Amino acid sequence: MEAVVLAGGLGTRLREKVNNIPKVLAPAAGRPFLFYVLDYLYANGVTKAVLAVSYLGEQIQKTVGGVYKGMIIDYSFEKTPLGTGGAVREALKQCGEDYVFVLNGDTVFDADLREMYKKREKGKAVLAVKYLENTSRYGTVVLSDEKIVSFKEKREKGKGYINGGVYLVDKNISGAFPGKENFSLENDFFQKNTDILKNFVSDGYFIDMGIPEDYETAEKTIKNAVSPKMGKAVFLDRDGTINENTGHLFKKEDFLFLETVPDAIREFRKRGYYVVVITNQAGVAKGLYTEKDIEILNGYIQTELLKTGAYIDLFLHCPHHPEGIVEEYRKNCLCRKPGTGMIQKALEYFKDNGVILDLKNSVLAGDMESDLETGKNAGIGFCAGVGNKKIENSSYADLYIDKLYDIFNYIK
Ligand SMILES: [Mg+2]
Repeated sequence: MEAVVLAGGLGTRLREKVNNIPKVLAPAAGRPFLFYVLDYLYANGVTKAVLAVSYLGEQIQKTVGGVYKGMIIDYSFEKTPLGTGGAVREALKQCGEDYVFVLNGDTVFDADLREMYKKREKGKAVLAVKYLENTSRYGTVVLSDEKIVSFKEKREKGKGYINGGVYLVDKNISGAFPGKENFSLENDFFQKNTDILKNFVSDGYFIDMGIPEDYETAEKTIKNAVSPKMGKAVFLDRDGTINENTGHLFKKEDFLFLETVPDAIREFRKRGYYVVVITNQAGVAKGLYTEKDIEILNGYIQTELLKTGAYIDLFLHCPHHPEGIVEEYRKNCLCRKPGTGMIQKALEYFKDNGVILDLKNSVLAGDMESDLETGKNAGIGFCAGVGNKKIENSSYADLYIDKLYDIFNYIK
């Protein structure tokens, strides 16, 4: 899933509190507010975000960089003021998928994007809305079944639904945008085209940094803004599964992706899988190379993958061996496959990042019996043997395939 984040706000109302920094970088509980928005996107399975920036945009680029957690971050620079609508039109050009989320970078609304994505529809925009007993600080929307029939300005008091600033749009609706360059997505497009709008009701945490009272509240509540979301992962063995197994490999010069692997990793991400490498590296215990060498190689693999739009969320390795010569690493451990220690570590990592991994809906692929046994021991729903005829009839495997990409003939 992809998202456009509107991060061009001037923060006029926050000026007293934040000077000379873009509104989305205003600190909340010690971190730039935008990081909470990005954390939210990552927990929801978004793999690429385009930040639409203008005022001091370079500062945002310097702070966030080109990758945040496992998300690829692109930037759309607004040279002249375009309004939210014009900024979205430009940023959508950098998106590759048919449906794209659009969010305000100064708002966190903890709507479940995976659920919201199910409401996508050709030619339509889905707006996440929230019910409030007192809507006085916000404009409201009037719902009728699945639709949004009208928008209302801020008013004194009363209950109702507010627009949470989280949208899912068919990318092609930009063709119906107003002809002018500078326009508001909400006022000049959504409000005048309510026939294309659907609602998605969520009672998730909501905070709008542009509203001073909300900004005050953020300090206390933002840390728990994102509730855990259910996700799935693919666990990939390394040597013999993603690269040619040359035996105790640790130099980038010896690293060669097997056919279809970068494409497969990109496709896994597109289908909503987090990608985790789990690899036994007894060469560390045997004194052939160090954990630092593994780290350097991982950096190389990541750089090569990024060139193709793919990315690995998490690299895990087991450096131990019961007969190792390096004392520190000589032991019977729980992480060496077929032990499930690395899967447990992955569960913890994702939990810390707001994701509860559903192992039954997850996938494992490996070229050795011990990989497949690991998968079964951990309760992973689908285990595929790949690229090694010796494991073709493994009782631990649900399937045998020659090339990793072939897996997509069998999984969703
Ligand atoms: Mg292997």
